[in-house]
Amino acid sequence: MSDIEKVQCLIIGSGPAGYTAAIYAARADMKPVMYQGMQPGGQLTTTNEVENFPGYPEGITGPAMMMELESQAKRFDTDVRFGFITKVDFSGSIHKCWTETGHEIHAETVIISTGASAKYLGLESEQKFLLNGGGVSACAVCDGFFYRGQETVIVGAGDSACEEAHYLSKLCTKVTMLVRRDEFRASKIMVERVEKTPNIEILYNTDTVEVIGEDVVSAVKVKNNKTGVESIIPATGFFVAIGHKPNTDIFSDYLNLDEVGYIKYEKPGTSYTNVPGVFVAGDAADKTYRQAITAAGTGCMAALDAERYLAAKGH
Ligand code: NDP
Repeated sequence: MSDIEKVQCLIIGSGPAGYTAAIYAARADMKPVMYQGMQPGGQLTTTNEVENFPGYPEGITGPAMMMELESQAKRFDTDVRFGFITKVDFSGSIHKCWTETGHEIHAETVIISTGASAKYLGLESEQKFLLNGGGVSACAVCDGFFYRGQETVIVGAGDSACEEAHYLSKLCTKVTMLVRRDEFRASKIMVERVEKTPNIEILYNTDTVEVIGEDVVSAVKVKNNKTGVESIIPATGFFVAIGHKPNTDIFSDYLNLDEVGYIKYEKPGTSYTNVPGVFVAGDAADKTYRQAITAAGTGCMAALDAERYLAAKGH
């Protein structure tokens, strides 16, 4: 078919990993084409203030930072496109990808930076305060600082919830953990750590009923799912730590994924996947750090690995 587009470097996803990969790839003259994906700018666009990305001493909002990254990538002629890749075929040396409109792209290298999506409870009140920046967050390391000296609630019982509750306990006067069963899922050592922290209160068998407040969060209504008793916990921040889902479904026929769906690195310390010429950066392969700066770092690695891969093929 004549309308097949051939590209040296296709970048899928537009968070800090994707844009950093684009900046490096474009400056190396790889003429990258980026598909921004369903949520242009990625998870950071749901973050209010970013204060921990080096180079912004006064902080910057998540959306503003993503616009800056986009303009930096475009400055070096990255072809940034609104749209998303819905299908891939990585069975040959040329990597075939299709967009949602059916446009077929043959890429010599592909950098996957599709990220992961935080899971939320799905309550209407939770989504309201998430969207208006009024006190719901899925990242304590990103947003905990805004609740210094205040009371917060965190839902979840895995390692992330324990880690984030402990992080919040150093900033907040009180942290209430909502555990839906009568036990944690997290490792023993993490559970012991939260149990031993005096300003963390653990409520077992407890579900969230509603996040309460006018424009900002002021309390959380919870219900004991054994007794049916409802209570109200005063809090200005509501943190959700019930897991993430990596956005990797379309690659599952070709790439090695772990049991949750994170892409496995073929060689530690690189961005290689098990398919030559396909590289991964950011949260699609990272369930541990999940920070904008670590995503940006791996985006740089992916572009350098892709450049070396092309050079070895004689480009
Ligand atoms: P997990 O999937 O391990 O845990 C999710 C937790 O959220 C579970 O306790 C689950 O409850 C709870 N949950 C899910 N849905 C709801 C809901 N609707 N309402 C209330 N609670 C809910 O995710 P994590 O992000 O914690 O961890 C992901 C992976 O990363 C794990 O393998 C973990 O070990 C690893 N990790 C390791 C760390 C470390 O070692 N330092 C730090 C962070 C993560 P239930 O138990 O009832 O299903």
